[in-house]
Amino acid sequence: MKNFIEKIIEEDLTAGRCSEVITRFPPEPNGYLHIGHAKSICLNFGLPRRYGGRCHLRFDDTNPEKEEEEFIEAIKRDVAWLGFDWGSHLYFASDYFERMYAFAEELIEKGLAFVCDQTLEEIRRDRGTLTEPGKESPYRNRSVEENLDLFRRMRKGEFPEGSRVLRAKIDMASPNLNMRDPVLYRIRRAAHPRTGTTWCIYPMYDFAHCLGDAIEGVTHSICTLEFEDHRPLYDWVLDNVTPPSRPYQYEFARLNMTYTVLSKRKLARLVREGHVNGWDDPRMPTLAGLRRRGVPPEAIRRFCDRIGVAKTNSVVEIELFEHCIREVLNKTARRVMAVLDPVKLTIENYPEDRIEEFEVENNPEDAAAGTRKVAFSRNLFIEREDFLEDPPKKFFRLAVGREVRLKGAYLVTCTGVKKDPETGEVKEVLCRYDPASRGGNTPDGRRVKGTIHWVEEKTAVPAEIRVYERLFRIENPEGAGEEFLEGMNENSFSRKCSALVEPAAVQRTSSGPMPLQFLRMGYFIEDIDSKPNHPIFNKTIGLRDTWAKVKR
Ligand code: ATP
Ligand code: MG
Repeated sequence: MKNFIEKIIEEDLTAGRCSEVITRFPPEPNGYLHIGHAKSICLNFGLPRRYGGRCHLRFDDTNPEKEEEEFIEAIKRDVAWLGFDWGSHLYFASDYFERMYAFAEELIEKGLAFVCDQTLEEIRRDRGTLTEPGKESPYRNRSVEENLDLFRRMRKGEFPEGSRVLRAKIDMASPNLNMRDPVLYRIRRAAHPRTGTTWCIYPMYDFAHCLGDAIEGVTHSICTLEFEDHRPLYDWVLDNVTPPSRPYQYEFARLNMTYTVLSKRKLARLVREGHVNGWDDPRMPTLAGLRRRGVPPEAIRRFCDRIGVAKTNSVVEIELFEHCIREVLNKTARRVMAVLDPVKLTIENYPEDRIEEFEVENNPEDAAAGTRKVAFSRNLFIEREDFLEDPPKKFFRLAVGREVRLKGAYLVTCTGVKKDPETGEVKEVLCRYDPASRGGNTPDGRRVKGTIHWVEEKTAVPAEIRVYERLFRIENPEGAGEEFLEGMNENSFSRKCSALVEPAAVQRTSSGPMPLQFLRMGYFIEDIDSKPNHPIFNKTIGLRDTWAKVKR
């Protein structure tokens, strides 16, 4: 099914209103990109891919102080990682300051903009309300000459910050507050990361954005619904100057997701106040965090595809996102065995010095993934929770007298345990194996329900495992206002420091860490801080899909 923007584009192409689709993704470099931005990126880069054309990456750096080089680099890295390419079309709104200034003079010359000496507080006070018209500024009727002179002197730096602004002369009685003589330029004495101190006046978003679009030849300027009320101003500016092209703005619903905050201000606060370990903390909904967590870019694209593009705001269940992650990882992640919380398993009737190798599949979902060899001996480790001294009837794992399959190896029957005499903690589980069950087959067709994973003692590699849960325990932290921190999940991070993984889990590839499935335990990926002598894995997500259970 086509979304409403695709329909508009098809009509525009058919009617010849444009011959190719030119879009832009316009991040403000004051934070890292998150999954909400991914929706916008997939849409903006996806449309020209489908219809022909291109998408520009334009940094909206009209705000002098805020921008940071770190964010610019992170944003480029993240867009590329998501799988999109802006080619040679990397732009900065600040590249257009000179041309924007000329458009501002054009408005003044047409009597459509004036220099106002009111303070921002006075302007706000006189703006009126939804039910009451605003009050015209006492400076509204300055002559074109006076306005030009003052504006040029504003540019030259003759006036202090906050003393004057340039305003559009539209209509103080407009039902749309954005049209009540909005501010177009303000004085800011701050060094800009790219233009330095060349400028001391800076354009406002509503003036800069439409002009940036027109300068770049953007055909469809797609933004989120909050900008719907700004569209008349977008059109007013372009209709009243002589723009090099005439773009149009379309609004779609931003992504909101349960158990997640996506407002940049809230995310920045989490980082600043140390509630998480940086923008790329694997619990963050940022692309850098998701990447570090092990979420493949394909899963994010798939998710954005699934949720579609609509005109009404809604909140998407995080289970759908998790479902998409599992779908992709199930097909792509290599299977290995890892024991997160190990307890020794000794096979009493297996020869002391024997080492066997079993050939196992790397991924049953992908024949091309091939096989690998796994070492096996008398001394293994299994997951502590896979043994119970006093098991319920339906416990299909190890317990004294019960038989299980050691994945890909043999059937073993538990014969007893060794415990710490003081604490009573189980130190070692003892068992006997059935030599006729090599490869995990049941020789006489007897029923063995349980299969557990294991690692071999001598070859296993010690590793640290970092386990992440949702950052918020409340469903709608975004709606909790400033109190959102109180909804944080205190148990969102834990680590297992004595895990053991099979050697195949730490085989390095040149293309960076590979997503892995630790059999029965979930999906994992090596962390960027992982070292050969101290491997660290992040848990991406568990195996059990809960999407089907979410009531819809
Ligand atoms: P702020 O909260 O500071 O306004 P922002 O989240 O809008 O920031 P920008 O850097 O201005 O961040 O966003 C770049 C683009 O991404 C914009 O076009 C914006 O509409 C889009 N975008 C931001 N958040 C979402 C979201 N949750 N869903 C879809 N698109 C989004
Ligand atoms: Mg924004």
